[in-house]
Amino acid sequence: MNSAHVYGQSVPPIPFLDLKVQYQGMAAEIHAALDEVLHNTAFVLGPAVQKFEQAFAAYCGAKHCVGLNSGTSALHVALLCLGVGAGDEVIVPAMSFIATAWPVLYVGARPAFVDIDPRRYTLDPTGLAAAITKRTKAILPVHLYGQCADMDPILRLANQHGLPVIEDAAQAHGATYRDRRAGALGRIACFSFYPGKNLGAYGEGGAIVTDDADLADLARQLRDHGQKTRYVHERLGFNYRMEGLQGAVLDVKLRHLDAWNAGRRQVAARYDELLADTDVVTPAPCADGDHVYHIYAIRCEARDELKAVLQECGIGTNLHYPIPIHLQKPFAPFGYGPGRFPVAEELGRTELSLPMYAELTPEQIERVVAVVRQARGDGRRSAAR
Ligand SMILES: *Cc1c(COP(=O)(O)O)cnc(C)c1O
Repeated sequence: MNSAHVYGQSVPPIPFLDLKVQYQGMAAEIHAALDEVLHNTAFVLGPAVQKFEQAFAAYCGAKHCVGLNSGTSALHVALLCLGVGAGDEVIVPAMSFIATAWPVLYVGARPAFVDIDPRRYTLDPTGLAAAITKRTKAILPVHLYGQCADMDPILRLANQHGLPVIEDAAQAHGATYRDRRAGALGRIACFSFYPGKNLGAYGEGGAIVTDDADLADLARQLRDHGQKTRYVHERLGFNYRMEGLQGAVLDVKLRHLDAWNAGRRQVAARYDELLADTDVVTPAPCADGDHVYHIYAIRCEARDELKAVLQECGIGTNLHYPIPIHLQKPFAPFGYGPGRFPVAEELGRTELSLPMYAELTPEQIERVVAVVRQARGDGRRSAAR
């Protein structure tokens, strides 16, 4: 991205995400942890992964964590652990990253989409009852953008029907719902440690978290070629193991997670304050838990124009996500057309993600908002002409 000019002065661009400052602040810790793995050569699973698994389970308030190679694998393993297969249905929100729904197809099941809540942006419990059929095998809410789904009504309905709830917590490390952490709210929770997530590895990574020892045991077999004893393969397995170097990085970074999430909340509070009197819609964090702002999502009717102006001024933004899952090509066979989930579709059309990370400075936040204001002001004037 080119540097921008403010009053003739060149100013550095503000990237959508900047992981460099974070690394610089903990380089010594990271290097020591990586060094240990390089010396003991436990490159796949091993002590560093085990240490992280224990620490992360405890952090979430759950009994078991199984380290994997991605969040997508975690979702796949979760569905396999619960015995979801051909002919079954899994309820998923229409708005999420595509990876929420892929594993439903991997196991040969059918995604049953539900719209999202217009304020919370997570699976709308009011649409849930109508989506449950005799074939429903699991409910898969997503803690989208870093705010937990409204789990109580979802769990209540799930319990009435004897259905397991799988949390997609890939955007919600450390988020809470009624004093419990994401990861300890459903039967199994799935995390991603993709580098850009709130807790990110230095490569790919993921995990499932659960209180159920049998499910954790099964997940350990599935990630390692279906074996419990070496070269005795009990079932169809996968190579979904977490790497030692990633476990080492994650164990170090977990110690910083709460501070980073607190930093993100401060950035969000400042954005909220400075954007309050503009016509963009800012996030509406619910009082029932802590939002961890994986994404700071605003809504604006002239979203594409606003994105272009920010881009011209050297400010990186992103869209999460321009096309809801039910309208993506691989999901066409399931017959959900445009207009079916109006809230998800509107979010896809109007959502814009502003730069969000704990290290954003007050000056950077002010610059982002100044450009938003300038763009919206111009927008209103041209509309009035
Ligand atoms: C990132 C993400 C995933 C997938 O995780 P990967 O580690 O990239 O495979 C799944 N669901 C959601 C909501 C995500 O944001």
